[in-house]
Amino acid sequence: MEQIISAGLEELGLTGRVPKDAPAQLTQYGQMLLKKNQVMNLTAIRDPEGVARLHMLDCAALLNFCDFEGKTLIDVGTGAGFPGMVLKILVPSLKITLLDSLSKRLDWLTEVCEDLDGVDSITTFHGRAEEFALEKEGFRDSFDLVTARAVADLRVLCELCLPFVKAGGSFLAMKSTGSGQELEEAAHAIKLLGGRVQAVHDYPIPGTGVTHRLIIIQKTAPTLKGYPRRWAKIQKDPL
Ligand code: SAM
Repeated sequence: MEQIISAGLEELGLTGRVPKDAPAQLTQYGQMLLKKNQVMNLTAIRDPEGVARLHMLDCAALLNFCDFEGKTLIDVGTGAGFPGMVLKILVPSLKITLLDSLSKRLDWLTEVCEDLDGVDSITTFHGRAEEFALEKEGFRDSFDLVTARAVADLRVLCELCLPFVKAGGSFLAMKSTGSGQELEEAAHAIKLLGGRVQAVHDYPIPGTGVTHRLIIIQKTAPTLKGYPRRWAKIQKDPL
């Protein structure tokens, strides 16, 4: 796994821009993931090469489109830590918060953080994004960056994620290249929630033939009162 990750980082042009021990740390994390996946549902990808490419390198590619150095970031619906954990390993100065509504996954992530050498200052929270953005002190309009991968349709995702972003910060939505219609349908939600589409980047994941998409939405104004709404309302009546 380590060799694939090292070669992939090289192909992404990231060697020399990330810590020397990052490939070893990502490998240790990937091995812990595969081991725990035998007893807990963490990922559908069950082979080391798939984990290296479709998890680690997919998330690492974000470094080519955004400056993460010293920023505060919340990863919404982090699951087994993607992309949050990978970004933290690659950019140690990142101040990262991992949020998920499933406590078992967060308990495991807390263990991973304790076991990974040199990976610290990660905060994990169990809860629902729409509730945290509304009620949790220090979360609303507060983060430089918000990330989400494979959590929800973009219209719904914008309501879950944009409220966390401070004005001037960005929401990074990891999507497939088939997300064009989703993006069109999210135009109203993005505008209403104080955002604007800043960039759309398609990037190949080394050694896979797969291309993924990063949609960067910049927050230009604070979140309107009353958003995000309750989960039942968000689902029933997406913006
Ligand atoms: N981001 C990870 C990845 O790419 O591998 C996990 C993706 S998993 C398919 C979706 C995750 O989002 C689940 O762990 C789920 O518990 C979490 N989730 C879904 N809705 C959420 C919400 N409203 N607030 C917080 N977490 C949520």
